Amino acid sequence: MSLITKICAVTLLFSITTAQAETSIQPFSASKAIDLTHAMHDDMPFWPGGVPFAKEALVTYESGGYLLHKFVMGENTGTHVDAPSHFIEGNLGIDSLPIDQLILPMIVIDVKSKVEANPDYELSTQDVRDWESKYGSIPKDSLVVMNSGWHSKFNDSEKYINMDSDNVMHFPGYSVKAGEYLVKRGVAGIGIDTLSLDHGPSKTFGTHVVMLKANKYQVENMANLDAVPAIGATAVIGVLPIKGGSQAQARIFALIP
Ligand SMILES: [Zn+2]
Repeated sequence: MSLITKICAVTLLFSITTAQAETSIQPFSASKAIDLTHAMHDDMPFWPGGVPFAKEALVTYESGGYLLHKFVMGENTGTHVDAPSHFIEGNLGIDSLPIDQLILPMIVIDVKSKVEANPDYELSTQDVRDWESKYGSIPKDSLVVMNSGWHSKFNDSEKYINMDSDNVMHFPGYSVKAGEYLVKRGVAGIGIDTLSLDHGPSKTFGTHVVMLKANKYQVENMANLDAVPAIGATAVIGVLPIKGGSQAQARIFALIP
């Protein structure tokens, strides 16, 4: 499967219709699309204590002349979106995220070199300010994504979860202060290429609380972030509209100008 698909350099201008809603979006052009979704399989990493992905054939070519599977997983397994209702009762659920917040400008903040030196690294407000001094203020209603480089470990669960002998995980995340700063900037959501927005050792999930309280969504376990520029891409987040769900898997593309 090609992860990067060339698409015609055409201007896309359309309105989107689903069974529930319709919205108009700004015109944009794209020359290629990047898949930011990890393929789903039985060996993929999952949150300790959670429900792993498991696929089972119900009908096979031999048994019935066609192929049909069933699969099971927790709503937070694999590349997925956390809805505000994940932590905050009464806030937006996964099926209520507005479509125009799911097709939006994507910002990438690269902190790979800091993570190489410290796997527990927390993205700081200063990292965001450094990005802004190069590219301008973080746009309102954008998706800000932290590229920690951790996505390259996804196919090795042990390295990805990185649990020590005291059952403490070690992977990078956002600091609470950076979350607060991004809420002030009016982002629609934030994303990361690890199991959680809060870094591995967190017991309080402070960044989850800040974002979800403010009705912002979060994307976790993102893939292929090295292929997305710091600014200019459009993210398309095809999250499953599970009624009453607090999180759900999403197929995510970055459209590159
Ligand atoms: Zn989460």
